[in-house]
Amino acid sequence: MPAVKPNVLLLEDDPAIAGTVAFALEREGFVVRSVGLVRDADAAARRQPPAVAVLDIGLPDGQGLDLCRRWRGDPDPRLARLPIVLLTARGEEIDRVLGLEAGADDYVPKPFSPRELAARVRALLRRAAMPPAPAADFVLDEAGQCISFAGVPLPLTRLEYGLLRALLRSRGRILAREQLFVSVWGDQSDAADRTVDTHVKTLRAKLREACPTSDDPIVTHRGMGYSLR
Ligand code: CA
Repeated sequence: MPAVKPNVLLLEDDPAIAGTVAFALEREGFVVRSVGLVRDADAAARRQPPAVAVLDIGLPDGQGLDLCRRWRGDPDPRLARLPIVLLTARGEEIDRVLGLEAGADDYVPKPFSPRELAARVRALLRRAAMPPAPAADFVLDEAGQCISFAGVPLPLTRLEYGLLRALLRSRGRILAREQLFVSVWGDQSDAADRTVDTHVKTLRAKLREACPTSDDPIVTHRGMGYSLR
């Protein structure tokens, strides 16, 4: 018996790109609904929330980024938690950062290989299907400015506490290094990436010490940032 094919909503106004992407996704076993306007994508997702949405950024009637942000704030959890991949222009660093800030789960820079996009969509679906409860978990005590991991209070510095709290608050989402830096240090800096990496390293060592049997809960996303499992 054939399994139900996962439904992908594709928002892309360039017919050539939309055609190639739809072809690649359908070949991978997805059902693709393709639209070229932000308002049509919004209406389609509200009518029937897809398993994954793939959004272009520049559309004739608006921005894929704004749609992403609107869905993230939607009272319907199927939209608020909808796995979203953004199609960004090549080398547009700003698109990548804005995309992650808008709550996208992944982004693929143009021009991309349709097969790679299909692989990313599949990976997102796998992640969305994973059970959310890890064996060792965190307890955040905001009043006491303390975080426990696997029942062990972590001996964190003020900055490590801020970093881990930021990751916990956006659990499961990728935070760009720039975002982490601004939320902990409260400012912009050229040395942001290096500073964040250094503190993540010491944070990891403390988590390992608190619970040596647990997998590293901090996930590094190359070229993007960090997330917490
Ligand atoms: Ca476009």
